[in-house]
Amino acid sequence: MEALQTPDRGLHLAVALVNTRTHDPEQLVSPAALRRFLLHHGELEPVDVDAADLAAMIAVRERIRPAFHVPPDAAAALVNDLLAAFAVRPYLSDHDGTAWHLHATRPDASWAEWAAATAALGIATFAAAHGFAALALCAAEDCERVFVNPAPRRVRLFCTPTCASRTRVASFRARRKGESQEGEQM
Ligand SMILES: [Zn+2]
Repeated sequence: MEALQTPDRGLHLAVALVNTRTHDPEQLVSPAALRRFLLHHGELEPVDVDAADLAAMIAVRERIRPAFHVPPDAAAALVNDLLAAFAVRPYLSDHDGTAWHLHATRPDASWAEWAAATAALGIATFAAAHGFAALALCAAEDCERVFVNPAPRRVRLFCTPTCASRTRVASFRARRKGESQEGEQM
């Protein structure tokens, strides 16, 4: 049985998909890896993907990525472009004995089309509720992961506490190095 579709499922898909390629090694390296990704995110069998699905999914991923860091106008335009290209009029479905859930793609959509429409709808819904500032790119130099922060009064710059402390340590070391170099010049 499919997990119930919560409003942020599409948003989580967007975040997880973008984070399959960061400074860490590429995760979507094969159709089998894409299959694992989709199953992990609650999609039901049969999940059959081939090399063309993989290439299309990666292309969609790179279209979604800037939504997390370009200015709001550009992010909104990007999301609207994705919706125009991939989404259809939403409809409820309980196909194959699943719980009622919302579809925003054609019944015969490819995996990439489905991901594009679902992720765009998830981002659109979230941004409408929390603003585009709540979509963020990790500020750590060697990270590139994206995350969401729906708590506007608690500014978050980093995807995880790990990135935050790594960056603090690095800037402390850089400062100390700068001070000791100044000391040598004197
Ligand atoms: Zn990070």
